[in-house]
Amino acid sequence: MHTQIEHHGVTVLLAFNDGEWLVLTRPTSTHWLSLDSFDPGITPESTREEAIESIKTRLIGAPPPNNHENSSSYCCGKCGKRGVRLWREYETFLEQQTLTCAACLEAERGKPIDPDRCDSVGWRVAAVPTPDGSSYWGFTSVPMAAVQWWRSLPLE
Ligand SMILES: [Zn+2]
Repeated sequence: MHTQIEHHGVTVLLAFNDGEWLVLTRPTSTHWLSLDSFDPGITPESTREEAIESIKTRLIGAPPPNNHENSSSYCCGKCGKRGVRLWREYETFLEQQTLTCAACLEAERGKPIDPDRCDSVGWRVAAVPTPDGSSYWGFTSVPMAAVQWWRSLPLE
């Protein structure tokens, strides 16, 4: 019998076979897992619920939809630039969000951005899309993997 686990937009298929828990399908990109070599931390004595919980705690995030950085919704509200890191306004309703690229942010502030410490700049924070791309993670709740997605984008 298989158990399908969905968490943070990632689907994992789990099975109990011959006294062993087996992870049948792994997320396609380990980048989004808290582990590189998959060690589910499940023993044969684990209950189904324990196994599911164990998998979930190891799924620390999911990427935005494929190629989200080039989608029409993820572009600078000022210059229209895509495929780069964008910032959103902190604590502003989604409908009123304006995304800003590094170049426009630097022009606005009149000083350069430090690429290594730029998750928050002034009252703007990293715009990190949720797995379905419909919203953004709260600044303090962004999963590490999603932060890595954002940081992997070029500044300009
Ligand atoms: Zn811009």
